[in-house]
Amino acid sequence: MDISVVIPLFNEEESLPELTEWIQRVMGQNGFSYEIIFVNDGSTDRSMDVIKKLASQNAAVHAVSFSRNYGKSPALNVGFQRAKGDVVITMDADLQDSPDEIPALYHMIVSEGYDLVSGWKKKRYDPLSKTFPTKLFNATARKVSGIKNLHDFNCGLKAYRRDVVKHIEVYGDMHRYIPYLAKNAGYKKIGEKVVKHQARKYGTTKFGLDRFVNGYLDLGTLWFQSRFGIKPMHIFGLLGSLMFIIGFFAVVTVLIMKLVSMHSETYHFYLTKSVYFYLSLVFMVLGVQFFCTGFIGEMITRNSPERNNYLIAEEF
Ligand code: UDP
Ligand code: MG
Repeated sequence: MDISVVIPLFNEEESLPELTEWIQRVMGQNGFSYEIIFVNDGSTDRSMDVIKKLASQNAAVHAVSFSRNYGKSPALNVGFQRAKGDVVITMDADLQDSPDEIPALYHMIVSEGYDLVSGWKKKRYDPLSKTFPTKLFNATARKVSGIKNLHDFNCGLKAYRRDVVKHIEVYGDMHRYIPYLAKNAGYKKIGEKVVKHQARKYGTTKFGLDRFVNGYLDLGTLWFQSRFGIKPMHIFGLLGSLMFIIGFFAVVTVLIMKLVSMHSETYHFYLTKSVYFYLSLVFMVLGVQFFCTGFIGEMITRNSPERNNYLIAEEF
């Protein structure tokens, strides 16, 4: 099979027939063998009835339906597990992404050897409250992830070599950072294609402003995981040692001052009035805590079933 189209959806009943028909037309014109995997993320409207009807008319239509709304990332993850095509294409269900882009994306993966190609909604048809923060978000994501050539990390329209989607795990809200996940898994040939974008035709957006706060927190998590995920002691041990050394010198200072004051008639040293006393307390305690966190982190990593999963590029 050439292409699997994975489509996460949450209450998109109006768009689905038009979208399916459009995909069907593009696939037919290009002679692709394909499947459409709708992942219904707990819709409360009639989306599932619509999909059932579409499936009865077209054998390429498949569906997985969650019993409640879990989010776009879990929906993509399940779609990825089910996908059988050589190239996997994800797109939003709201008709904002155009199926006309599929052939070009497919060829970039198959002929140009990209692992992942992300769409770039260069000209966006979304409100300003969405487009401006997105620019900032993408600039940060480029910097942190080191994927310098991407302008639009969170574009719903993306194409992958099948191998890639089988080796990444999209969870939480991590769909915003799939290129970063792919890069961390060892897939480095990540490209971009300018894609057409439309204003939402039916329904409303499913993401509010909280996505920016969560987006930044997730970026921090991913950065931390990719740097220290399998060696947490390298960061906590370093911090712990630094704290402990500072605390130790503070203790020595306090002791010296105390000794000096004991042998002096004029100099009185009050332990609780000395800044070094508090420094020694705080830093020694913090240092020990960082160390303990590091050890616990190491224990957790040690027990992770993933700890020895390496992506092997070649073997003779
Ligand atoms: N979506 C989903 N689960 C959710 C939220 C959204 O499957 O909890 C789907 C939604 O139906 C759409 C896609 O994810 O197909 C993108 O959502 P939306 O168009 O609301 O995002 P926007 O384009 O406004 O960023
Ligand atoms: Mg949309």
